[in-house]
Amino acid sequence: MKSIAIIGSGPAGCYLADQLLRLVPDASIDVLEKLPVPFGLIRYGVAPDHQSTKAVTRVFDRVLSRDHVSFFGNVEVGRDVRLDELMTLYDAVVLATGAARDRRVSIPGEDLLGVVGSGSFVGWYNGHPHSQAPVVSGVRSAVIVGNGNVAIDVARILAKGPEELAGSDVDGRVAAWLMALPLQTVHIVGRRAAAEAKFTDHELAELGTLQRAWPGVSDPASLAGDTAVVKTLRGFAESTPRDTPVSINFHFNLTPMAFVGDGKLREAQFRSAAGETVSLPAQLAVTCIGYEALPCCSAAPANGVFANEGGKVDERLYVVGWAKRGPSGTIPTNRVEAQQLAQRISQETHSGERAGGAGLRKVLEERNVRWVDYEGWQRINAAELVRAGAGRCREKFCSPAEMLDAALGQQLRTA
Ligand code: NAP
Repeated sequence: MKSIAIIGSGPAGCYLADQLLRLVPDASIDVLEKLPVPFGLIRYGVAPDHQSTKAVTRVFDRVLSRDHVSFFGNVEVGRDVRLDELMTLYDAVVLATGAARDRRVSIPGEDLLGVVGSGSFVGWYNGHPHSQAPVVSGVRSAVIVGNGNVAIDVARILAKGPEELAGSDVDGRVAAWLMALPLQTVHIVGRRAAAEAKFTDHELAELGTLQRAWPGVSDPASLAGDTAVVKTLRGFAESTPRDTPVSINFHFNLTPMAFVGDGKLREAQFRSAAGETVSLPAQLAVTCIGYEALPCCSAAPANGVFANEGGKVDERLYVVGWAKRGPSGTIPTNRVEAQQLAQRISQETHSGERAGGAGLRKVLEERNVRWVDYEGWQRINAAELVRAGAGRCREKFCSPAEMLDAALGQQLRTA
């Protein structure tokens, strides 16, 4: 058998495992994940009210359940095992570690209380163990920087009322935090023209269906062009506003200049195309401007991605997903890319009689690492579903310790 390790169990890693099962049937595939639970961006990036998008985890779950695939949750490369050790243990190793760090806008005031990156904010409302609630209160006005789908997600989650979050897996504490905000305005600010916005029309149009909020455009004259997105924005601008507690205000051609405040954010400043300063009062600013890959032991990204040639970083070391191409594309983009990489790995990988998963288990046992296998994940999953309160499809465990207890069946027994 050939042995292949995939580092990361998000969409890129899971689609790759799926494709390797098809194209390299004589391989044993180990999927390592630093958290005790799988699915990365699907669990912690896709918005909690978009459960139909999260449903792809059923496909990924089946992949992890297959013979020849083993899940190693709670195993962090760099903490529990080194990349060079994996290279010794496996015939091929793939970095599917995503892009976990928020890009910075690099303007004054970015470290004020109330200014957060979308990775951190989205992770928090999705119950990521390492994310925390923004340290803000009394948010009447929020500014969202960026014109991509993450900006739309963040605006929608801020603007929705409690009944609109029914059926989601948003944590009760997060929902309570959101509902306690005296929110009146959400500004979505792009540095380019509306026709160059990166929103997809479907996600944008959803903002026109919200109960608690109504979208508008600050300067309808900025809506030049006839893209689907511009037409939808024009529809927002031309329709009679409903009387809703929250208004969502689109701004275009405004480049971020500074976040201003005395310890806490007070306003966000932008420069218009005419060179004027435009100030938007805000107690919360979420920068939704993309992400970059973090180093994985000795493998260091440059410009936010791991340098590669067609997915190959080095002999027997590969990269896939956002860690390879940067934070772009939809979930199915990963399937296409995984197929191409699996093809390449199938041609280039030869069995080197390496120790593979047996060797990894030995290393982890020697180091007293408590890893979560597929059955452990199944117990966590079952416990999260059982404990979901009324109006929620799941209540996630938000700390690794709770997850590890659930993996042993302890939460199920005490639930
Ligand atoms: P994105 O689509 O690349 O959008 C990033 C936005 O940030 C762009 O408007 C970009 O403007 C702006 N930006 C970058 N640097 C900036 C700066 N220094 N100052 C001001 N603005 C700046 O990225 P994303 O929204 O993070 O989404 C990541 C990927 O996930 C995308 O492929 C997205 O479609 C996908 N996604 C999909 C869904 C969905 O389908 N429901 C939901 C969420 C995310 P420029 O265009 O000028 O660079």
